[in-house]
Amino acid sequence: MILCCICDKNIYKKPWLSVLNNTNTETSHVCSYICSNKIDTVVGKRYMDRIVNKEDFENIILPTSKYQISKESQIQSTEYEMIQRDIDYEEQLMFEMDLYEDSFSECSDEEKQQ
Ligand SMILES: [Zn+2]
Repeated sequence: MILCCICDKNIYKKPWLSVLNNTNTETSHVCSYICSNKIDTVVGKRYMDRIVNKEDFENIILPTSKYQISKESQIQSTEYEMIQRDIDYEEQLMFEMDLYEDSFSECSDEEKQQ
């Protein structure tokens, strides 16, 4: 059984995020976006290069898709820009991961129905 390294909850499905720790020997998993915000307390800062399930986030890490996400959120662009001004790069990436997670879960629901 995989446990969330932040809240110790059982992760029954796929971990939301899996990151190698500082020594690259163990992998830490988190259950949700909320817990992923605190994963740096376990694996250390600047863990982007150590994300194990990188393919899940590839689209938003690539600059082109980053632009597409910004375009999609044009309706809330004022809010988005305000947020963008106040957060650093890593927090911005987490914010975009959150957006990505939303669109991803919609897609998988549609697939189930078909
Ligand atoms: Zn958790």
